[in-house]
Amino acid sequence: MQNLKAIVIGAGIGGLTAGIALRQAGYEVEIYDRVKEMRPVGAGISVWSNGVKVLNRLGLGDRMAEIGGIMNRMQYHTKAGELLNYIELAPLIHKVGQRPYPVARRDLQKMLMAAFPGEVHLDCRCIGVEEDDHGVTVQFINGREARGDFLVAADGIRSVLRSYVVGREVEPQYVGYVNWNGLVPADAELSPPESWVIYVGEHKRASLMPVAGDRLYFFLDVPLPKGTPANPDTYREELKAHFAGWAEPVQRLIDRFDPYTVARPEIHDVGPIDRYVRGRVALLGDAAHATCPDLGQGGCQAMEDALVLANYLLTTNISIEYALKRYESERMARANAVVEKARKRAEQIHGKDPAVTQQWYHQLATEKPTDVTDAISKVILAGPLR
Ligand code: FAD
Repeated sequence: MQNLKAIVIGAGIGGLTAGIALRQAGYEVEIYDRVKEMRPVGAGISVWSNGVKVLNRLGLGDRMAEIGGIMNRMQYHTKAGELLNYIELAPLIHKVGQRPYPVARRDLQKMLMAAFPGEVHLDCRCIGVEEDDHGVTVQFINGREARGDFLVAADGIRSVLRSYVVGREVEPQYVGYVNWNGLVPADAELSPPESWVIYVGEHKRASLMPVAGDRLYFFLDVPLPKGTPANPDTYREELKAHFAGWAEPVQRLIDRFDPYTVARPEIHDVGPIDRYVRGRVALLGDAAHATCPDLGQGGCQAMEDALVLANYLLTTNISIEYALKRYESERMARANAVVEKARKRAEQIHGKDPAVTQQWYHQLATEKPTDVTDAISKVILAGPLR
C-alpha cells in the first residue's frame, strides 16, 4: 500500500525503529512521546544478531558497528571466580551470519533518533485513540490530537493503548528479581577485553560486557521481594552485602560504579497476550511482549516487529487491517515464544525452584560451549531475517 500516514506512540527502541522502517517504506510518520527530553532508561543492552540484522536491513549496520562493543567470548564463573565455562562466540557468529553488539543505550537511542528523518514530538502523553472507517485519531493529555491512517502503539511495558487492543487490562508481572545496571570504564582488572563475563551463585548474577568507548556495561541481579526500598545512597552498601565473598572483580565493580547513574528496575514481563492488533492499531515492542532480559531479546524483538510491520504494509494492497493482521499472526507466534522462553530462563537463573538453579550451575560446568552457542543461534534464526 502507498501514501499512508502512520502515528507512532513511543520513541523507544521499538517506536524509533518502526519510524525508520515505515519512512523507508515511503510512508509519512509522526512519532510522539510523553517525555520532555529523550533519556533512555537503563545503561546498556545487548543487541543480538537478529536485532543487528534488522538494523543492517535499514542501512544502519555501519553505525551499529561503530557504537557496538566487540564481544568474542562468554565466560561463566562461580561466585568465587572459578571458571565454569569458556564459550567462543565465533561459531555463533558464523552460524547466524552477524555478530551481536552490546551497546550503551544512550548511543543506540542517539543513533536511532539521528536515523529517523522526521520530528519526534515530545511532551505528548497519549491518553486514547478513536478509529473510524478512514483512520485513527489519537488524543494527548495536552489537548492535542493527531490523525493518521494507522497507529503503532510502541508505548512500552505500561502501555496505555494495550487495553484498547486486547480488550482488558494486562498487568505486567514481577519476575522476582531486581537488576542494578550501569556503565564503568573498561579495565582488565574487571574483565578481559572482548569478553562477556558472568559470575553466578546464590541465584544471583554479576555480569560485565564491553561497549564502545572503552566502557563496560554491567548488571547485578538479586532476587528480592517486590517493592524492596531502594535508595542510590545505599546501593553500594547493599550490593556489598548481597555479593559478600564473591570474586575480586565483582567487589571492584561495586567499589567503582557511580550509584547515581545506576538504574535499578524490578524486572517484569507481559504476556504472552493473544492480540497485538485491533483494526488500525498495532501494538509493537514491550507494549505487546515485554520480555525478561535473561535472553537479551526484548529490544531485538521490537526491532523485528518494526521490520515485519513495514513489510506487510508495503507488500499488500488489500487493506491496512489485513496487513496488520498478518503482522499480528507472524509476530505473535515469534515474540510470545520468546516471552515464555525468557521467563523460564529468568526462573532458572534466579532460583524459583532452587533445585533447577543448582542443576543449571552443574550444566554450565559440563555442557559443550557449542551447545550454548547452538541454543542462542536457535533463538536468533527463528527471526524474520535468517
Ligand atoms: P520502551 O523502550 O519502554 O519505550 C516506550 C516509549 O514510550 C518511552 O519512550 C515512553 O516514554 C513512551 N511512552 C510510554 N507511554 C506513553 C504515552 N502514554 N504517550 C506517549 N509516549 C509514551 N533487550 C534486548 O534486546 N537486549 C538486552 O540485552 C536487554 N536487556 C535488558 C535489560 C533490562 C534490565 C531491561 C529492563 C530490559 C532489557 N531489554 C533488553 C529489553 C528492552 O530494553 C526492551 O524490550 C526495549 O527497550 C523495548 O522498547 P520499546 O520501544 O518497546 O519500549
